[in-house]
Amino acid sequence: MSDKPDKRSTFPLPLSSVTGSKRAGPAFPPAKVATPQTATRNAAGSGVPGGPGGPGDTRSYVPRVVLPPAKPHGDAYQRAQPLPVAAPRPDTGVSDAIRRAMVARVAKQGVQDGVVLKALETVQRHRFIEPALSAQAYVDASLPIGHNQTISRPYIVARMLEVLRNGNALTRVLEIGTGCGYQAAVLSHIAKDVFSVERIRQLHELAKTNLRHLRIVNLRLHYGDGMLGLPQAAPFDGIILAAAGLEVPQALLEQLSVGGRLVAPVGAQVQHLQLITRTGKAEWMSETLEGCHFVPLRPGTV
Ligand code: SAH
Repeated sequence: MSDKPDKRSTFPLPLSSVTGSKRAGPAFPPAKVATPQTATRNAAGSGVPGGPGGPGDTRSYVPRVVLPPAKPHGDAYQRAQPLPVAAPRPDTGVSDAIRRAMVARVAKQGVQDGVVLKALETVQRHRFIEPALSAQAYVDASLPIGHNQTISRPYIVARMLEVLRNGNALTRVLEIGTGCGYQAAVLSHIAKDVFSVERIRQLHELAKTNLRHLRIVNLRLHYGDGMLGLPQAAPFDGIILAAAGLEVPQALLEQLSVGGRLVAPVGAQVQHLQLITRTGKAEWMSETLEGCHFVPLRPGTV
């Protein structure tokens, strides 16, 4: 995604621009970072290669909308305008074909794990995004979910899950940073039991609302500080963080079972995915993987 001026006037683009058959521009946007700022730009549609609803596309997509200016973030905004969490996201009729095209792009970017790709194909990402933004749900972009937080790019979700799985079945997984609940839903398809912790109460509530209609029986959401882990449910054979700390909290390392894997973004301005494997009772091995950009991991609850 570029920082060029708004290109909304070029929308809507035909379906073929999403599925790739007649695409004129770049294959898909280059890697984007998950900062609230860029997520807001992603939401505004700059450089987005296409979406549903073009001429000849008769399906019932939500119409493209002219978005209001970026909302202010922070405590004042949270107090003044809590997110509407009462109703589940409507099914906007976004087709399976568009989601398959998203998965094909993720695979082209290097994710090979069929179980992960299948899970990504199954979960309707548009249901986790504000209706006004759902036309962009299948672009490989981070998008704002309120409270200065973002839903991660499909590619990075898939990549982290691939690293976490390492080709093996997962039994008990802990996610730190539920956000809107999208990644937790994907996780529920690749692990036997999933626990997810969120520190912002309103996002915890939003995730509950988003996930309720899916009736996922192997996923439990918790409101709390994920830096402390979830000792009552430990140990986990997989732990995944959706927010970046300067280091991985010790409590999480302790809650990993021997042989278990933890994947986390680590860093501040410059971040990398880190894979930590517990190799013994008091022994962990760490590997640094690719660069990434996530919202910060913060202590406490709000
Ligand atoms: N997986 C999410 C991504 C959410 S963004 C999704 O699919 O939407 C990262 C989330 O991590 C934010 O919601 C943020 O509030 C949360 N977070 C940051 N620090 C945390 C902590 N210590 N404990 C729990 N959640 C935390």
